[in-house]
Amino acid sequence: AAMAEGGEDFLTKPVDPRHLLSTIRTRGTRARELSHLIARDSLTGLFNHTHILKALDEQIKVAERNKTLLCFVMVDIDHFKQVNDNHGHSVGDDVIRNLSLFLSQRLRKTDFIGRYGGEEFAVVLPGANIEDAKNIMDEIRNNFSHLLHGGQAAISSTFSCGIALYQGQKTSELIDLADQAMYLAKRDGRNCVKVCPSDD
Ligand code: GH3
Ligand code: MG
Ligand code: MG
Repeated sequence: AAMAEGGEDFLTKPVDPRHLLSTIRTRGTRARELSHLIARDSLTGLFNHTHILKALDEQIKVAERNKTLLCFVMVDIDHFKQVNDNHGHSVGDDVIRNLSLFLSQRLRKTDFIGRYGGEEFAVVLPGANIEDAKNIMDEIRNNFSHLLHGGQAAISSTFSCGIALYQGQKTSELIDLADQAMYLAKRDGRNCVKVCPSDD
């Protein structure tokens, strides 16, 4: 019955303390590895779609409870289909990995970064107001546009970015607002950052 409830094993008393410790350590390591695999995207090591949304939900609750600020950011690589078509899928993968590394290095350890879908990323910025969020994402955008990717191919790439400030909306509404801001960034020629509520 205990196994049916999810128990993994039985240790029969008396238990040698060393045996107990090593058993717990092994189980702990395995559980951590498993939850890392479940929560992470395999190409980039970032949170996957499900888990960046989970982080967003949790951070909304934190922002509500502590009356703190929160911004949600959508990032989409520009004309990425052309990168694949002109230089091959593996160069495309390089660009995706480089952008994920770049975001991880530039953002705070307390921020949450996820691969939302193919060439789309989502970022949760706890404690950031819309100006700060725009400034940091614009700096990252500008620096990223100067990188060269794909080894010999040495191609450059840009992204567009939409940011929404949390103001008590439902999670899905906040995502929609960031998406709308992203759409404006694409419409205004790409390689730019737009915010919602708009600042222009
Ligand atoms: P836009 O500037 O409007 O965003 O244009 P786009 O070409 O980036 O957008 P579109 O949605 O037309 O194309 C996205 C491409 O991303 C198509 C798909 O093949 C590619 N893609 C998605 N996931 C991966 C991946 O994991 N690796 C690679 N190399 N390409 C991917
Ligand atoms: Mg896209
Ligand atoms: Mg794109």
